[in-house]
Amino acid sequence: MLNVLAIPAFQDNYLWLVHDGVHAAVVDPGDSAPVLAALAKHRLSLVAILLTHHHADHVGGVPELLRHVKVPVFGPHNESIPGITHHVAEGDEVSVPGLPLRLEVLDVPGHTLDHIAYFSPQQQWLFCGDTLFAGGCGRLFEGTPAQMVTSLAKLTALPDSTQVYCAHEYTLSNLRFAQAVDPNNADLAARVPEEQAKRDQGIPTVPTTIAMEKATNPFLRHTEDAILARLADNGFVDSREPIAAFAALRQWKNTFR
Ligand code: ZN
Ligand code: FE
Repeated sequence: MLNVLAIPAFQDNYLWLVHDGVHAAVVDPGDSAPVLAALAKHRLSLVAILLTHHHADHVGGVPELLRHVKVPVFGPHNESIPGITHHVAEGDEVSVPGLPLRLEVLDVPGHTLDHIAYFSPQQQWLFCGDTLFAGGCGRLFEGTPAQMVTSLAKLTALPDSTQVYCAHEYTLSNLRFAQAVDPNNADLAARVPEEQAKRDQGIPTVPTTIAMEKATNPFLRHTEDAILARLADNGFVDSREPIAAFAALRQWKNTFR
């Protein structure tokens, strides 16, 4: 029986620990100390590291973890990430050693060009780093709007019930923006107090599901008439072209307070 544990780190990161009660794999260990503490607390031994992209808050803990235990490190092709033993890309499948866990790799450029995601068809779990967030999506640091639209479409093609393990607790601020651009969305209006209640109790809002994101995440709804109308009203875009609308949404979100 596999489980996923959230390890909070830094301000708002989640490092994900997938384990069977004995062995564990960690996704995006930006820091080593909270991972080592969680392994000790739950008496788990680390068997693998999985990386989604090169940002420090996702890979920073790798060298220190490898000083404690030599495990395979799966990650994207990127010279700037130290410690990767297995470079993977879309079409590859990762059999996590020591765990009954197979992960399909998807290329999801946009936030960075090297960004990949891992999907378990058996568990219907998605580890998508900083690509799709609960109620939002990653900033475009390296990729283009068109690349991000294609990447998000790959993720929304996964089963509706897929549990989405993204890497940050950004949900409430994402939903504030979502309500500004999609004010008449009833599913969204219903979601906000549910997520607020979780945060009030100190509970992560992650994982979310593909179904929930399709219903409430404006970055997956950029072709909806209501959102296009709001973009036009606010002077962001006069075009209904999907990539331009997505780019306008992302730009609006970058400056939204
Ligand atoms: Zn990042
Ligand atoms: Fe990040």
